[in-house]
Amino acid sequence: MLDDLHQDYLRTMDIDIWVRRELIVEHVAPEMPVRSSPPPVAVKPQVKPVIQPATPTPTKPVQVDHIGWDELRQEVAKCTACPLHQSRTQTVFGVGNPNADILLIGEAPGADEDRKGEPFVGRAGQLLNKMLYAIQLQREDIFIANILKCRPPDNRNPTAEEKLCCTPFLKRQIALIQPKVIIALGRVAATFLLDNDKAMGALRNQSRKQTLSYADTGVRVLATYHPAYLLRSNLQKRKAWEDLQLIKQIITEQGL
Ligand code: SF4
Repeated sequence: MLDDLHQDYLRTMDIDIWVRRELIVEHVAPEMPVRSSPPPVAVKPQVKPVIQPATPTPTKPVQVDHIGWDELRQEVAKCTACPLHQSRTQTVFGVGNPNADILLIGEAPGADEDRKGEPFVGRAGQLLNKMLYAIQLQREDIFIANILKCRPPDNRNPTAEEKLCCTPFLKRQIALIQPKVIIALGRVAATFLLDNDKAMGALRNQSRKQTLSYADTGVRVLATYHPAYLLRSNLQKRKAWEDLQLIKQIITEQGL
């Protein structure tokens, strides 16, 4: 039998726990009250808005090398350096403790993040919260950011130009936070942080076996799967669980 703590971790990660059939107590759901249907409402025909073709915006990397945290936040909020500013609701700067030892970096905001202005708030965000909880961390303990600060339309992968344009913001965030460990969530973040174009599985394995550092700073980078990918791929949740255990081990060893 698994001990209680282990079971709790697996349950938190939504990993199925196998239990002998005779141990399962049948649970009968209480009857739900029957609601009467609301009266029909007249629906007005919708008029489709006329969408004007977007004006092309030249892409050029932003210059934020020497600015502080508040100014950086303002620069992100008003940035129009690449065409993504035309389709965003708002920028997504990042959230958490600006003095954190642990920095989590994802790919780019999705629809929920674009609406709320905060990274990892949709279903993937809920899974990330559970993953953090499994190693006794909360969002407030760490800092969470993305490679891009604006949502790519239809959640497509960021283009090379968009990454070139936007990553000075992230580099400045890393320089100001000075984390001890960076967790790259997914291949887009892992390839940027490790400056290596290998497949996700290879980057993950390499970062588990060797101490890989971000831009020769000595800050360790661990690559693991993006929570949005884990929602689609149950098989990889076991590997993500192994990664969480390694992160927990590093946190304990370094006293973070
Ligand atoms: Fe600026 Fe980055 Fe948004 Fe492009 S994605 S407009 S570079 S903040």
